[in-house]
Amino acid sequence: MGLFDFLSGGDKASSQRDCHPKMFCYQCEMSMPEGCGAHGQEKGTCGKTATKARLQDLMVFGLKGLSAYREHARELMDMNPNNEDLKTLIEIDDVMSETLYFTLTNVNFNFDEHIAQLMKIGEAGVKVMDLLSGGHTNTLGVPTPVEVTQNKAEGKGILISGHNLDMLHKLLQRIEERGLSDKINVYTHSEMLPAHAYPELRKFKNLKGNIGGAWFDQTDVFSKWNGTCVVNTNCIVPPEKSKKVANYIDRLYTYKIVGVEGAKKIENDNFDPLIDQTLSLPDVDGFDSDEKLVTGHHYKTILTLAPAILDAIKSGKIKRFWVIAGCDAPGKSRNYFRELAERVPQDHVIITSSCGKFRFNDIDFGTVPGTEIPRYLDLGQCNDSNGAVHIAIALAEALGVTIHDLPISIALMWMEQKAVLILLALLYLGIKDIYIGVNAPQFVNEDIFNFLNEQFNLNVISDIDKDFGAVLAQ
Ligand code: SF4
Ligand code: SF4
Repeated sequence: MGLFDFLSGGDKASSQRDCHPKMFCYQCEMSMPEGCGAHGQEKGTCGKTATKARLQDLMVFGLKGLSAYREHARELMDMNPNNEDLKTLIEIDDVMSETLYFTLTNVNFNFDEHIAQLMKIGEAGVKVMDLLSGGHTNTLGVPTPVEVTQNKAEGKGILISGHNLDMLHKLLQRIEERGLSDKINVYTHSEMLPAHAYPELRKFKNLKGNIGGAWFDQTDVFSKWNGTCVVNTNCIVPPEKSKKVANYIDRLYTYKIVGVEGAKKIENDNFDPLIDQTLSLPDVDGFDSDEKLVTGHHYKTILTLAPAILDAIKSGKIKRFWVIAGCDAPGKSRNYFRELAERVPQDHVIITSSCGKFRFNDIDFGTVPGTEIPRYLDLGQCNDSNGAVHIAIALAEALGVTIHDLPISIALMWMEQKAVLILLALLYLGIKDIYIGVNAPQFVNEDIFNFLNEQFNLNVISDIDKDFGAVLAQ
């Protein structure tokens, strides 16, 4: 579905959009409620058009994603002045400050320069994901594939949700220092699942398994969990959203920037209050499933399989790669991605990352017929999405073609600002033919979408047969 259809169609999103002013900017004194855009104007008093206002919003959303990854990369960084990564960190910081300056009132009214600035954010996104990925593998080792128990737990338990692997490492070390490794088990939730694949984390035998799915089931899962819970990055559900939070708020801990009223904050990496409360609580029960999940196909590990993958491509055993990834969100509409994964033919390989994988990671996809190559490759967290690009570049180089000549289809779920940054990073790299969904972003108007469609063939998902029927039939 093109954005124009999306805007003009009679669906719910379109009717919501009708209530919105075409122009929305509240950056200065001439803003809403009575100012720019309030009475249907398409330009602000300063001359800013609706499209440029939205492009500036897009920049700010991209920066939010960038800042999250930058923070985690910085946590893992060796601050020795001779460390080359520091130069990259400064380059990323420069893009952040320059872009914020760019969005100031009356600084820039040039469309092409808006696009160029967005591409700079995308470039910084590539750098920050590489920096974070390198930080993880330098400190925790390169992940390798691992089978993880799902929804099975015992003993005193801590359940950790979020993206911060460094925090998990420090907690496991502290439990060990206190001689409690055989008394407290640690479990992952949502985007923490890939933790099980890192050698320096899985060497802790009390890092046991995964509980639950994507971030938004945390109120159900945490409510049933007798132990303590930690949310260490974004994608926390607050009490204002769900009454179920009251069931566990006195057992909920947050870390660093994450905060919820009523929850306890882990201060200065002091995990002892969390550990002590866990010891005082009953054993967890009610989690006794035989399910298993697979994770740990970090791109550095997949690249070691490159010769086998290349042989399989050349011999026709692998006909296509699919990137089906991104942010999950409540609702049934994202079942599109499960159905798509189910319909991918046996001689096609699925590459995924982020919490959207929980839409289909319970499926046993097996191996590509005639090979030992898994048909389902989980790169890791959303910040590991750079792996798909590294794999594509390596394959293209080895096959002597461009990335655009590779048989790859891409379907991305976007939900929030990290996904926006990942999309900008892909566009910066010139990746085309991406389908995003389930809705077009609200900050993209018809002009912007038409531009992205013309330049990158970016589309919004609609119907699997319409979007991908031709390649699924190959
Ligand atoms: S920056 Fe321009 S468009 Fe925005 S509120 Fe001020 S005058 Fe209006
Ligand atoms: S992938 Fe996106 S929605 Fe999911 S937990 Fe990470 S940031 Fe949140």
